[in-house]
Order: sequence, then structure tokens, then C-alpha cells
Amino acid sequence: MRLVFKFGGTSLGDGERIKHACSIVRRYFEQGNSIVTVCSAMGDTTDILIELMSSAIRGERERFESGIGRLRSGHLEAVEAAVQDAKLRGEALRGVEERLNDLTHILSSIYFLREVTPRSRDLVLSFGERLSTWIFTCALQAQGISAKYLEGGEAGIITDSDFGYATPIMDETLNNIKSIILPLLSRGIVPVVTGFIGRARDGAITTLGRGGSDFTATLLGAGIQADEVVLWSDVDGLLTTDPRIVGDAKVIPQLSYDEALEMAVFGAKGLHPRAIEAAQNGQVKVRIKNTFNPSAPGTLITGQGYSTGSVVKGVLLVRDVAMITVRGASAVGKPGSAAHILKSISERGVNVMMMSQSVSESSISLIVRRDSADLALEAIKSSSPPSLIRGIDCERDVVVVAVVGEGMKGTPGVASKVFGAVARRGINVRMIAQGSSELNISFVVKETDGVRAVQAIHEEYRLG
Ligand code: ADP
Ligand code: ASP
Ligand code: MG
Repeated sequence: MRLVFKFGGTSLGDGERIKHACSIVRRYFEQGNSIVTVCSAMGDTTDILIELMSSAIRGERERFESGIGRLRSGHLEAVEAAVQDAKLRGEALRGVEERLNDLTHILSSIYFLREVTPRSRDLVLSFGERLSTWIFTCALQAQGISAKYLEGGEAGIITDSDFGYATPIMDETLNNIKSIILPLLSRGIVPVVTGFIGRARDGAITTLGRGGSDFTATLLGAGIQADEVVLWSDVDGLLTTDPRIVGDAKVIPQLSYDEALEMAVFGAKGLHPRAIEAAQNGQVKVRIKNTFNPSAPGTLITGQGYSTGSVVKGVLLVRDVAMITVRGASAVGKPGSAAHILKSISERGVNVMMMSQSVSESSISLIVRRDSADLALEAIKSSSPPSLIRGIDCERDVVVVAVVGEGMKGTPGVASKVFGAVARRGINVRMIAQGSSELNISFVVKETDGVRAVQAIHEEYRLG
């Protein structure tokens, strides 16, 4: 079989874990499979890189120097533990030092300039994956596998120049991947590709958005028409809800692409929505498995619907959102007023996650990420004529609860059951929206009620 294996940050948390992940690759390889590996950055390296940039901008030289020191020792220790061959270890250490020296130079420039451009920010962020992937390649070689290190661009991922959330130029990227990766596989080589990063036409390194290594993996899978893309993580699969909220959350054995996409959009497992989209377009199966429990079957995501016996498959809690309510008598019934508000918000680059319009109360409610609430407010105020708006409220202490499942389509009474369960706990629902796909119902409650609302629905549908 042709497989793409992507290892997330936790699965590559230290040298021992890298060695363990390599042994998984080796086992499948020795069983006769062709394998492409994709690596995320080790642990929380990407977050640390973001902090380092902030320290550099603020001129906190000691902080960013000590931060680089921590990254250096973490990665050097990983090499010592993961690369068990003296010659390869030396090579691995040199590669890590080279990358860290480059990173130090770039951060020093940011420190002197006290500014970072989107382009240089992506360059800095790329170091997490470039370090981990390099170490992984050397560690695989030390286990006797002929592995080849490739950065996203070298593997064929060409993107636009929308730094921070670059979009691959699809046909070209898929063709590149095919012509670069397939010949390596036929020579028995395991390509080891940096997750999360691509290359713009002018050669600049771009990033695909947080959690983007999943996307790299499904792009590669689509490009080589893999039999399966396995996202190796630290959970037994995609769970019915966040295990940190509900102790008895259960693995969902199988999901359709549409359901998985819906779960991803609402933040399940930090799964990258565009990863699912790419898999669906390429009709490539995706499986989520646990590196720390590799024999568990995981969650399989395919084009087929699958019944678990419950119409609801997952319940998700989206924190860090804000609800903006625009009230305006003259807005009602006037064609395009909602469109006008949405347009002004999207022009500031703010994504509206949910919207509902009430005619009787002549108001429009919008859900946006909490950290973009101010931008959205400003956009509405500056672009709407005062006659259109009677008042704007912004509530920052709310969360979204999203209920997902294909069986909800055409099953009467889902909403009453969901809201009945929530009401019985005395929880007040602030806003409701139903996805056009009919695969989800999402609603807004006060932040303090969020966890209880999720628990209520999880229990009502006996998902645990
Ligand atoms: P990786 O580093 O492998 O990409 P992530 O950190 O992106 O993994 O996501 C894994 C974590 O997501 C899990 O440890 C779990 O705590 C959390 N999580 C939240 N919601 C879910 C869910 N519905 N199913 C599985 N994991 C979830
Ligand atoms: N390292 C990147 C991030 O933390 C990409 C990923 O892990 O998928 O967002
Ligand atoms: Mg992730």
C-alpha cells in the first residue's frame, strides 16, 4: 500500500518519541508498504517561535536569546536520543546547528528593526518543522531506512503569497508532488517532508495556517493517490467531544468527509479544515491514530456515510469567540443590509463563524473570533450609515456549542431534543444557527455554561 504518515507535535515531543515514531514507519515499511512521512514541529516549538518574535520586536534581547537556547538544547537532546549511529548523529547535530544559526540571525534582524513582516514571520515559523523533519530523517536513516529530507517546496507544494495562511496552487502542486514523490517511492526511499510549509513562486517560504501539517499530509496523499493518509496523534481517534471536557468521550470509528469537515471547522482536535477538503477532493481516505497506542484502529474518514446508531456523532465547544449584535429598525427588510455588514467585516480579513438574523427584533447577530471582535466592530461602525444602525452590542463572555452528525439530516426532533437537554440544565441559549449542510446545529451560550451544555448533549445522545 501507498501510505502517508503525519506525526503531530506531541508524537515528536522529544528524542525518545521521535525514535518511537520512526519505529512505526519502519514496521510498516518492512511490511512492504511505500511510505511518505510528514513531520510537525516538536512539541510546542511553533508557539515558542511566536514568543521569540514578540520578544525580539519588544527589544528583549535576553529573553529571545534564552529562548533560542532552550530550542537548541531541546533539539540537540532529541538528536542524542533519536539518532543511534555516531556518523549520522554528527551530521544531524551539524544540520540542527546550521538551522539554529540561521534562525538566530533572522531573529537578530527582527530585534534590530523592531518589526516583522508577514514574509519574515513565515520564515521564522518554518524553523520548527525544518528542525524536526531533519532530525526525523537522520533518525530513520539510523534505523536502516533510506530516507530523504524534503522541505514543502521541494516536495512540490507551491502556494500563493498569502503569508500565514497560504493557499496551494492546486493543479500545479498535485502534479509536482506526483512527479517528485512517486519516483522516490519506487526506489524504496522514504521521503520525509516538512509539514506546515510551502513555497511561493518567488521562492519565499510560506505557511499554511496553524495545524497545517495535516494539510501537507492530505495534499501529498492526494498527489500520489495514497491508499490512506494516517494522522498520528496523541488520542485514539477523533472523539465524540474534547476529552478534556468530558471524561468518557469515545472514539468515533468512522466519519464522512462532510462530517469530519464540520468537526474540523469547529475545532475538533485542531484538525485543519483544509486538510479534509484536500482529502475529499482527491478521494483519499484519512485515518486518525494514536502513536502511543498504535494497535487501536482509530477513526476512518472516507466518502461514505456511516451510522453509529446515533444521529449525533460529536459535540464541540468553541471558546474564544464573541457575539456582536447589530440592532437597526431600518435594516429590516432592506435587501442587502446583512450582506453589507458581512462585506465590511470580511474586508478587514475577519471571518464570520455564525450569523443569525431576526426580523421581529430587527437585529443581526454575528459570531467572530474574540481576538478579532474589535476589528469587526470598527468595520461595522465605519462602513454603515448611522441611519442603518440603532445600536451595537458585543459580548465577549460567550462560547459556541456545535452538534455534528450526518443523521441529523431529515431526522425530525433533533433540535427539540438538543435544546430540551440544555434547557433542563437551566442553561440559556443566546443564539442559534443551523448549518446549510444540515450536518450541524450550533448555538451560543454564556462561557460559564459551555462545558455543562456540551455534557448535557453528550449525555442525552449517550455518546460516552
Ligand atoms: P497533533 O499535535 O497530533 O496535530 P493536536 O494537538 O492538533 O494534535 O490535537 C490533539 C488534541 O486535540 C488531543 O490531545 C485532544 O486533547 C484535543 N481534542 C480536542 N477535541 C478533540 C476531539 N473531538 N477528538 C480528539 N481530540 C480532541
Ligand atoms: N507546527 C504547526 C503548528 O503548531 C503546524 C502543525 O503542527 O500542524 O501550528
Ligand atoms: Mg495538529
